Amino acid sequence: MELARKWVQLVIALLTNGYWGFPATRTIYQGPLKVVCSPGLNCYSCPAATTYCPLGALQQLMLSIRFNLENAQYYLGWYVLGCIGVVGAFLGRMVCGWACPFGFFQELLYKIPSRKFSVPRPLRFIKFGLLLFFIFLLPLFVVNDFGMGNPWFCKYVCPAGTLEAGLPLLWLQPELRNTVGLLFYNKVAILVFFVGWSVVASRPFCRVACPLGAFYALFSRARLVKLQLDREKCTKCEACHHVCPMGVKFNESPDDFECITCLACMDRACKFDAISLTVGGIPLRSGEVRKPVVSKPQ
Ligand code: SF4
Ligand code: SF4
Repeated sequence: MELARKWVQLVIALLTNGYWGFPATRTIYQGPLKVVCSPGLNCYSCPAATTYCPLGALQQLMLSIRFNLENAQYYLGWYVLGCIGVVGAFLGRMVCGWACPFGFFQELLYKIPSRKFSVPRPLRFIKFGLLLFFIFLLPLFVVNDFGMGNPWFCKYVCPAGTLEAGLPLLWLQPELRNTVGLLFYNKVAILVFFVGWSVVASRPFCRVACPLGAFYALFSRARLVKLQLDREKCTKCEACHHVCPMGVKFNESPDDFECITCLACMDRACKFDAISLTVGGIPLRSGEVRKPVVSKPQ
């Protein structure tokens, strides 16, 4: 199943970044597919991106709400909320485990041989603060002298945007290099920080700082597709703790908002069939492969 997940991650990363004409056009794709909302974090301004990013769209939505209210227009752009709301209700953070190019990128970095460290559990709450302030409150309330708001997370923080858009566009359009300033260096520093951290810890950006992960985490209990624990079969052996890339102790917290449904605990750890994948509460499959557990910090 791990191999299947890797293939799904690769295919989705390629599909959402499937415009390979950019070396010739030296600009971003703006064709009809650009109205499709990508489920995972994938920058709209990446030269290869065929879809738009749900986080960028959420910030634009908040900017439009303020603009509409100021102009006495009382309607809401439901498309973005509908897209990620439906995806969240079905899959929750399974998107992070299977369909996010930046999550996939971090997993590849973690394969680089090095000493590995765990991510302190309390840090996981930071991403909810980032979701609230950078995605909702700042775009809604902070404007410049001209009354214009900003997509704050994209502009000041997003390491995926720097990796997929900022750096490639500087390479494609050398004239942009004259405009590079402190803001860009700051974003490069954030990217370098998370790249380095991803080599020595499993998925640190997903666990600490991703507002999209925080948004999907809101559906952890209610989502349709999730893992279930059979408490009668569980022996509390804690094997599931050691394989989880998100630091979840599954038998203690089966609805944990950090679970990305990677299925590692079910397939590679639990020898007692205590974990099953369910859709709407109906078991779909339980663990089959029984391999020895290799313990390392998560
Ligand atoms: S709890 Fe299991 S399915 Fe969820 S992230 Fe951890 S190992 Fe993957
Ligand atoms: S590996 Fe299975 S039996 Fe062991 S603690 Fe986790 S759920 Fe329970």
